[in-house]
Amino acid sequence: MKLRDDLDDLEGYHSPQVDVAVRLNTNESPYPPPDAWREALLEELKSLPFQRYPDRAADELRRAIGQLHGVGPEQVLAANGSNEVIQALCLAFGGPGRPAAVFKPTYLMHAHIARITGTAVVEGERDADFALDMAEVERVVKAEQPAITFLCSPNNPTGMPEPEGAIERVLSLGSGLVVVDEAYGQFSPRSAIEQIAAGKPLVVVRTFSKTWSMAAARLGYLVGPADIISAVEAVLLPYHLDAMKQAAGRLALRYKAEMEARVATIVEERGRLTAGLSELPVDTWPSAANFILFRPRTKDGDKVWEALLERSVLVRNCASWPRLDGCLRVTVGTAEENDAFLSALREVLA
Ligand code: PMP
Repeated sequence: MKLRDDLDDLEGYHSPQVDVAVRLNTNESPYPPPDAWREALLEELKSLPFQRYPDRAADELRRAIGQLHGVGPEQVLAANGSNEVIQALCLAFGGPGRPAAVFKPTYLMHAHIARITGTAVVEGERDADFALDMAEVERVVKAEQPAITFLCSPNNPTGMPEPEGAIERVLSLGSGLVVVDEAYGQFSPRSAIEQIAAGKPLVVVRTFSKTWSMAAARLGYLVGPADIISAVEAVLLPYHLDAMKQAAGRLALRYKAEMEARVATIVEERGRLTAGLSELPVDTWPSAANFILFRPRTKDGDKVWEALLERSVLVRNCASWPRLDGCLRVTVGTAEENDAFLSALREVLA
């Protein structure tokens, strides 16, 4: 069997999962979730009725997520990672004749997932500093009338939040749904969740994979107006969210203070990493996330990536991504991991 013609040239999005001492390539949390959460989850699993399908609407989980953001459960939809949320959005609002817009460089999966769902992708460019360029957004939106416009705040892989006021300006162009991917939202000074309102085509995507230290659980969610949430619900498979995951997410939210403490530690470490990088011959971009994009000035990005790997340090190689020639992206790890990364990089660039 042959892959669909329109997906012929589809390249996978993945980072090698090689065995290394210092793994700083996928923006996971370097810290595990609290032991108390693990115990509460194990306790709950003991009496979970495995013979029954899970709560199809994931009511309790949605209620708990809604409480976190001061909205009702009807304004929340949970799925298997935020990637599945993005897929559901494309299935619901994209498809033939309803393109999605992305502004590069940005999270490659927005375009990738859109194409898999049969949604055409129209592309615009960010400005020279990789900030959202409103003139370019206006040009693309007016010319292409996208059904979906993806923004990412903080943006991956650049680490920068979308500029203040940008979301309202995109909304004012009046073309379709504006999706703000806030996978790294807790690291950022502002969130678009406060701007969500009935009748406004704005939704925000979040994940448990990063700040909640639960990448293994594959849980993400969408916050938005109730009518948009029910439209997205219509394209999800029945019982798509298993009972273990629903419990894991619901219980995790009891440990918000611990999550915030981890975020604070990572932000501090990000500062240390930035300071360390500033002493080396690399260009960096200011980050409001748990990773830093950098470009070695004196050596080829691919070579630096390989030399780091030889020293058992794995970072993300973005060198072949559009407009990111020679760039690498490092996830903020534990203090020890960050030290190991900095000393390996110092050696490689010496
Ligand atoms: N959005 C962005 C911007 C990301 O960087 C990631 C993870 N790399 C995701 C979404 C997907 O996260 P998950 O599916 O684990 O929730």
